[in-house]
Amino acid sequence: MDWTPGGLSGDIEDRRSEGGGGIGFGGGRGLGIGGLLVLLVISLITGRNFIGAYLLGNSGAVQQQGPSAPPSADEQRSAQLVSFVLDDTQKTWTSILPGYRHARLVLFRNATYSGCGSARAATGPFYCPQDEKVYIDLGFWNDLKRFGAGGEFAQAYVIAHEIGHHVQKLVGTEAKVEQLRAYNPSAGNKLSVALELQADCYAGVWAHSGEKRNIIHADDVQQGLQAAAAVGDDHLQKMTQGYVAPESFTHGTSQQRMDWFERGLQSGDMRACNTFGNASSN
Ligand SMILES: [Zn+2]
Repeated sequence: MDWTPGGLSGDIEDRRSEGGGGIGFGGGRGLGIGGLLVLLVISLITGRNFIGAYLLGNSGAVQQQGPSAPPSADEQRSAQLVSFVLDDTQKTWTSILPGYRHARLVLFRNATYSGCGSARAATGPFYCPQDEKVYIDLGFWNDLKRFGAGGEFAQAYVIAHEIGHHVQKLVGTEAKVEQLRAYNPSAGNKLSVALELQADCYAGVWAHSGEKRNIIHADDVQQGLQAAAAVGDDHLQKMTQGYVAPESFTHGTSQQRMDWFERGLQSGDMRACNTFGNASSN
């Protein structure tokens, strides 16, 4: 991906210096692969209850670091990359979606508050529809890498996916899904999967635009696909619990995630991202 490190976007809220003594960037976080998988699983709406148990069992392994430890050069570059992708995805959506309203992105360390409750590093990146902000602790990239989805475009894919959730908020898909979920709680996981796959597809729509502008190349796309595969539910479950339980999927399989990313990428058209079938929405 072609980009030049620069300043931080006006849409970024940098709360890294506020972090109250916690998990620092770059340091070993003491989280094994299982921890990472859990992090990935819950970087969304439904899997949250998972995390409490995980944290309870592992809090002793978390490395403490002063809240105001100065950011390393690596972390600075990482923040600049996030900033670049945030601006680029939002520019793209502004040109696609009439009336697009910018999301904001909060960089934090360890823990912070959000419109959706407290945000913790271990939750992984997420989008909060209530305050229209993406939350991310940059330490997550270390986990992602450890998990086999390293590289700058893997990170870009995660940001673009979160902005995809913001698009869902803006066009009303998220609200519709909440309604459906309220009427029919047993369809919750299915709806989650559709929502997540659509966010993957929207990430692909952005990548399509980047390809056209020649800032995203074939090897980036490969990295994006790898990242999508790495965070598929079947892969995560196999790694964490040794077996696959499709009824508990909340994000979709590796294959589905790659397919929908690719669909957005090939078409560049958000109308190609109807992951809900005939059921509803979009
Ligand atoms: Zn998501």
